[in-house]
Amino acid sequence: MDSPLLVSSILAHAVKNHPRRGVVSRDGAEIVRFSYAAFGARVARLANALRRLGIEPGDRVASFGWNSHRHLELYYAVPSMGAVLHTVNIRLFPEQIAGTIAHAADRIVFVDGSLVGAVRAAIGADPALGECRFVIMGPADLTLPNAVDYESLIADESPEFAWPRLDENTAAIMCFTSATTADPKAILFSHRSTFLHALATAAADVFALAERDVVLPIVPMFHVNAWGLPFVCPLVGASLVMPGARLDPAGIIELVEAEGVTFSAGVPTVWFALRDALNARGAGLPSLERVVIGGSAVPPALFDDLEALGTKVIHAWGMTEMSPIGTVSTLTAELAAATPDVRRRERLKQGPFSVIVDWKILDDDGNAVAADGHARGELWVRGPAVAASYYNNDAASAAAFVDGWFRTGDIVTVDDFGFMEIVDRSKDLVKSGGEWISSVEVENALMGHPAVREACVFGVTHARWIERPIAAVVMRDGTAASEDELRVWLGERVAKWWIPDRVVFLDAIPRTGVGKFLKRALRERYAELLTSGGDVVAQNPSE
Ligand code: AMP
Repeated sequence: MDSPLLVSSILAHAVKNHPRRGVVSRDGAEIVRFSYAAFGARVARLANALRRLGIEPGDRVASFGWNSHRHLELYYAVPSMGAVLHTVNIRLFPEQIAGTIAHAADRIVFVDGSLVGAVRAAIGADPALGECRFVIMGPADLTLPNAVDYESLIADESPEFAWPRLDENTAAIMCFTSATTADPKAILFSHRSTFLHALATAAADVFALAERDVVLPIVPMFHVNAWGLPFVCPLVGASLVMPGARLDPAGIIELVEAEGVTFSAGVPTVWFALRDALNARGAGLPSLERVVIGGSAVPPALFDDLEALGTKVIHAWGMTEMSPIGTVSTLTAELAAATPDVRRRERLKQGPFSVIVDWKILDDDGNAVAADGHARGELWVRGPAVAASYYNNDAASAAAFVDGWFRTGDIVTVDDFGFMEIVDRSKDLVKSGGEWISSVEVENALMGHPAVREACVFGVTHARWIERPIAAVVMRDGTAASEDELRVWLGERVAKWWIPDRVVFLDAIPRTGVGKFLKRALRERYAELLTSGGDVVAQNPSE
């Protein structure tokens, strides 16, 4: 009963009880396969190599890579030997990459061969990064300082390692928040929180993962541990399919069909592209039973399209600070008997809370808000997989962690069925003439227009109303709609005063490193749009 909950016990379980299930990984042009038994041996070799390189308990080791079998080996070897794996977001700016590695004090950085250029740029931003040792995964580009090749590093090591019986509260993984609204902040996950999160996430009303599943995580392993999937799958004996660097729709479709993938997960933007590709070929993916979509709200049009293609959409909400899963929109017994409209409405919400998340909703004065589906307030959470602070960042910690609770910054309602719905991110709310406008609702209405692929609504300064909404939209290929037409469309769907004052057309919406809309960049770009009286020039924010 007092066995500690350790990452190494998840690995040991998969090796002993699911030796023939395992990991499939796209490694450049090749597909490689390892049973969990063979995988376990590679993890042990890696741990032995790390020990030879001088890695001690508590040391930080960084990964800078795509979703691959080698990245998964790091997920198990580093924490299991008592060190901490820092999963660096490969899409940060060079200064941020160097900054997060310095903040974590990483001693060794494991880099995918195809990403060596990004690390070189980060060394350019901060030459101190060049002092680290680099291990190159996949294509052996050994041009970084002190670089060695991963396969050579582990080749002669023993396939056995006596995993230490650690205190379960030891840190296992460090991950930075995705910087939707501010600079990245670091979170440490412990062995215990990782184990409990994996157990809770496997549950039938959460991801419902089982041994028979074949799981393809599109969500990157540097985005909150790919939402726990690298731990949940070995824990239940499901196989993992790692897509490597190829995240284009054709590459995903090929893997799903070849490997019989049953389950996948990613942010809405990856599913836009996949949906369009499947619609273009006129056929869904029969093996793909369900996909988890989270990180941003699931647009209803995307939900309907994927379900029409035969894949069930599971809407999930979470945060880096929560390991990350907080709610999953699974229907309850009561709702199973409801009308199709009610069921769809509830499934589009973020859903009921996981067993490991306690919650409350407070208004601006700190009063509890009723769970009646209408009253809104900020969501506060706590639990065994919710962080208690940011690593080495007292100022940010003091603002976000109060009296044992974490302030999510999300503005929500909770209805009579226990389903939470995010109305907005507190920093993204648009306040027009003292009244709140839900940018999420306006975005969803816009994305319901047949010509609109993506829509992002944000507030800018207005002389009379203090703030008014602007919409940035990206059209679907080969379609067109005028600004007036979109505003008329909205007039039939949202309150008149919620209609954005302007609609700007872009080739792409700026994104965070994990694929979410970067509203901050749009707010800055269009800050004076309504006050300057200037013309709206469509610009590509990625330029
Ligand atoms: P991150 O830490 O990068 O996972 O970002 C967490 C934030 O993303 C949350 O606080 C929400 O604002 C947003 N988010 C995550 N999942 C959803 C969802 N299903 N619907 C709406 N917003 C979401």
